[in-house]
Amino acid sequence: MTKIVIIGGVAGGASAAARARRLSEDAEIIMFERGQFVSFANCGLPYHIGGDIQERSKLLLQTPESFLARFNVDVRVMNEVVDIDRHNKKVTVKNLLDNTQYSESYDFLLLSPGAAPIVPPISGIDNPLTHSLRNIPDMDRILATLKNRQPTHATVVGGGFIGLEMMEAFHQLGIQTSLIEMADQVMTPVDREMAGFAHAEIKDKGIDLRLNIALESVEHLTESNTLKLTLNNGEQLETGILIMAIGVKPETKLAQQAGLQIGELGGIWVNEQMQTSDPSIYAVGDAVEEIDFVTGKQTLVHSRGLLTARAVWLLTTCLEEMNPIKALKVLRFVKFSTLLLLQLVRTRSSLSARAFTMRRSMFIQPVTQATTLVQKRCLSKCCLTQKQARSLVPKPRVKTASINASTLWPSLNERV
Ligand SMILES: Cc1cc2nc3c(=O)[nH]c(=O)nc-3n(C[C@H](O)[C@H](O)[C@H](O)COP(=O)(O)OP(=O)(O)OC[C@H]3O[C@@H](n4cnc5c(N)ncnc54)[C@H](O)[C@@H]3O)c2cc1C
Repeated sequence: MTKIVIIGGVAGGASAAARARRLSEDAEIIMFERGQFVSFANCGLPYHIGGDIQERSKLLLQTPESFLARFNVDVRVMNEVVDIDRHNKKVTVKNLLDNTQYSESYDFLLLSPGAAPIVPPISGIDNPLTHSLRNIPDMDRILATLKNRQPTHATVVGGGFIGLEMMEAFHQLGIQTSLIEMADQVMTPVDREMAGFAHAEIKDKGIDLRLNIALESVEHLTESNTLKLTLNNGEQLETGILIMAIGVKPETKLAQQAGLQIGELGGIWVNEQMQTSDPSIYAVGDAVEEIDFVTGKQTLVHSRGLLTARAVWLLTTCLEEMNPIKALKVLRFVKFSTLLLLQLVRTRSSLSARAFTMRRSMFIQPVTQATTLVQKRCLSKCCLTQKQARSLVPKPRVKTASINASTLWPSLNERV
């Protein structure tokens, strides 16, 4: 009987566990999660804060009990894997409830430990009003700050997916909001003229958008219980809550300790089968780096839809024949205000480096059918497949690897 041990119980880990059971009735499957929750909808967290997803319980997709009942998977929450003994194919696990340690053997080990928010060493950043958002406890802390302190002003640092979503959440709650971004555009993975649509929408809503600006220091004013932010242009801003959303860093400590190869971008190195440098250990998700099918270079992709597919494929390689995984096709999207932003390929600058013809990396279209889809399945925002995404795009049908926005929307060129 094959024994599969999975580290990490959220997007990649939980998808892999469910898939493993579908592929094999006999396999023994154990999934370790150091947090309290498994298989929750991290992509829905900003939407619960902003009120779009009203019930907290809608974020919790599975529990250890439901996993056991439905998939016969042994899920151990509050259990952190602290060591991998590759030679003896064993992991050491720390039970965080009673601080005891024990070991568990494996035939195949799957790593899906994710990535942690980057919090730069900015003076004064460690204070009760500054948050980042990765999981349910983070969300609960943000909600508690909103409830207890009733801020009238919020600041988000970082204009990526999570930053935009948090900015919109605060705006929806009627809180005056500033968005601070160090680059000259939000959503840096997309072409600048496409980000221009987002800039216009942000300003239309009366949100204070500050581009080319970095946060330099933070001071907690205890009397007013607010934060005084100093920016690198010398300006100061008083705010009631601060969200740091400047990116994430792959969690590779365990893999590194175990002597697994780390890639050039700092993620766990994997081959086409999502196999690490140890043939019995696979890895998936935010912690890995792999090959981008457009540029042919290493890339880190933080996308749930993509990784769910990866998790499914790699379990197929563990339990069935060894199918090489198809080259990486990036697709991410975010609903922001009345816009649906789709990132299908790469920016022109990264493509032109490889002599690709000019292609747009994003579509921006008013939210129509997409809204229904997003609202109906709160999680589909992040789990949209390429097929579903294509069905949202007006005809003629689009090839994800070759998009010429001006053909699709001749009027687009006039607007940018
Ligand atoms: C607020 C937010 C919004 C997002 N929105 C989108 C979106 O709109 N679209 C999209 O595509 N993606 C989105 N993402 C990204 C998406 O959620 C991630 O790409 C995905 O969750 C990564 O899955 P993972 O399994 O690699 O890591 P995670 O889902 O982070 O799971 C890793 C788990 O492993 C556990 N773990 C780590 N080390 C150990 C250990 N040693 N022992 C036991 N457990 C361990 C951690 O506690 C964690 O729970 C969003 C993420 C966040 C935080």
